Amino acid sequence: MTMNNDLFNLDGKVAIITGAARGLGKSIAVGLAKFGAHVVITDVIDTSGTLEEIKKFDDQSFDLQVDVSDESDVETMIKKTIDHFGSIDILVNNAGILKTANAEDFSEDDWKKVIDVNLNGVFLCAQAAGKQMIEQKSGKIINISSIAGLSGYASSVAYSASKAGVISLTKTLAAEWGKHNIQVNAICPGVFATNMTEDYLKDEDFKEMIKTKVPLSRYAKSDELIGTIIYLASNASDYMTGHALVIDGGWTSAL
Ligand code: NAD
Repeated sequence: MTMNNDLFNLDGKVAIITGAARGLGKSIAVGLAKFGAHVVITDVIDTSGTLEEIKKFDDQSFDLQVDVSDESDVETMIKKTIDHFGSIDILVNNAGILKTANAEDFSEDDWKKVIDVNLNGVFLCAQAAGKQMIEQKSGKIINISSIAGLSGYASSVAYSASKAGVISLTKTLAAEWGKHNIQVNAICPGVFATNMTEDYLKDEDFKEMIKTKVPLSRYAKSDELIGTIIYLASNASDYMTGHALVIDGGWTSAL
């Protein structure tokens, strides 16, 4: 095999990112644009900050209000992307919510909300984008799971279950869609500094626990997933599918 400099190049590729207004989704969207992709930035909250940054790299990118748990929003997202760009090469299912409470007190309403966004939302977006990718005979789907989907994490019963479901969904879609040349992989981040972890990271005991338990002795900045995303979105990962990559500073690999 001859190696060339295009292995990680995303020039002209079309990427949809869910939950891209802030945090990991914003970093991922900006990272993909820097590597040449046109980006469709979607979220339930204001996405203008992400769009403004992306416009420095690509003037065709646009933003949309999309609730990933709403089927008609998801259909509109796919239709507008195809109408505008003619293809969908990359889907990053990043939108997610966290609700915490002891399992014995966890409300059914919160359970349903978390599963609806974190698991049903990933399915709806993957299914809708997958139909287009099957027609194209190519596509990359990247699902943001969590190390909480691999190990139990106290007080996050719905979140952990939803993220474990995302890993299983990833493997099943990979098994089904490999024949269409669609790669489906998941990422399991450890602790990254975003709105979702803000309260944890204000807690000195939590920070001390990270220092001692995580081999790299720190939590991650919000842009430290980009390298993995570019790898999974590009031709560099063409023979990789159905995998869940753990990006956690070594936390889950150490006793
Ligand atoms: P965040 O809260 O900063 O961002 C999540 C984004 O998702 C927000 O912009 C929010 O508006 C959006 N969102 C929520 N519900 C939505 C819906 N129904 N439809 C569309 N968008 C919706 O959190 P983050 O840390 O950036 O999280 C991004 C992803 O990474 C999540 O799936 C999260 O579970 C996962 N994750 C984060 C960490 C971490 O340490 N930050 C660790 C593991 C996994």
